[in-house]
Amino acid sequence: MPSKVYFLPWKKRGELYKFLKAAKVFYHVKARNFLAVKIHFGEEKNKGYIKPEYVKPVADIIKEKTAFPYLTDCSTIYVGKRADAYHHLLVANKHGFSVESCGCPIIIADGLRGNNEIEIEINKKHFKSVLIGADIAKADSFIFMSHFKGHEATGFGGAIKNIGMGCGTKAGKFAMHHTSKPHVHNAKCIACGSCVKNCAQEALSLENKKIVMNKNKCVGCGQCLVSCPKNVFILDWNEGSNSLQERIAEYAYGVLKDKKSSYINFVNHISKYCDCFDIVKNEPLMDDVGIVAGTDPVAVDQASYDLTNKTYGKNFFRTIYPDIDPEIQLEYAQELGIGVRDYELVEY
Ligand code: SF4
Ligand code: SF4
Repeated sequence: MPSKVYFLPWKKRGELYKFLKAAKVFYHVKARNFLAVKIHFGEEKNKGYIKPEYVKPVADIIKEKTAFPYLTDCSTIYVGKRADAYHHLLVANKHGFSVESCGCPIIIADGLRGNNEIEIEINKKHFKSVLIGADIAKADSFIFMSHFKGHEATGFGGAIKNIGMGCGTKAGKFAMHHTSKPHVHNAKCIACGSCVKNCAQEALSLENKKIVMNKNKCVGCGQCLVSCPKNVFILDWNEGSNSLQERIAEYAYGVLKDKKSSYINFVNHISKYCDCFDIVKNEPLMDDVGIVAGTDPVAVDQASYDLTNKTYGKNFFRTIYPDIDPEIQLEYAQELGIGVRDYELVEY
């Protein structure tokens, strides 16, 4: 049976509050419940993240039901300003996320150093259990606000990625990433050192003006691919991305297990790279599409994917990443029973 998915065209984004009320996607919000609103606050200088003005209507609807919303995310495993709770909160504040602007506080779910976690048993193909940020796992239910855009490792990043990778602690993120280690095409290296500075695992060093990778230290985070101006790092996307997408879907399965949630995708500022990168590499490459909401993350991502491709005139994601099949995450998430790819679109 198809899932119902609701669509608000971008030009009508000012009507977000009325749209969400009409869509009735917050069916699971109960009085005095703690509601985790999972979002990505954007890396420093990033411009693509969902803006605080769109969080306020969501928090307002939750509070009307006398429940307690809080914004949340987990630490990253790459060099940046969100690798621990202290700096993460400073970036969120710099990007305008405050109690005043959003109508709710922020709790970084995996704590100061990214190791406050709860293990959830799933017994799936890649993982027997997953490691989730404790203050996400302890929420009564969830709302995932996801920026839908291109992604350097999975083709696109939307709800499934926000749930799976976004709710994993540092150890969880390492586990998801560890099969996607890049190869080094050293002849192209100009010894600029950019990748060395950006590798949080200290897996890279310059020796005789050429880059050397310690594969034992590399966790496959992909930061060096984006930071290198000469495309020295090459990922075997068929192997790396397919497995990574499945691993993320399994983490999403663990997060959602026994919990109710809803999903709001912002299909705007559609860039090639995710919100973990800075302004230079994060410009939008096509027109904004709109806001997609529902109670099925697979259907919400599928509809966001289809609407993006329809607006672009052909498959946007296969155009920017010809070697990545981004539909693996949709297919495997459906196989896991997280949701269905078939949907009925209701336009507001
Ligand atoms: S070498 Fe590249 S992929 Fe490996 S940990 Fe460092 S930045 Fe990440
Ligand atoms: S960023 Fe690229 S070019 Fe610069 S040192 Fe690293 S591998 Fe070499």
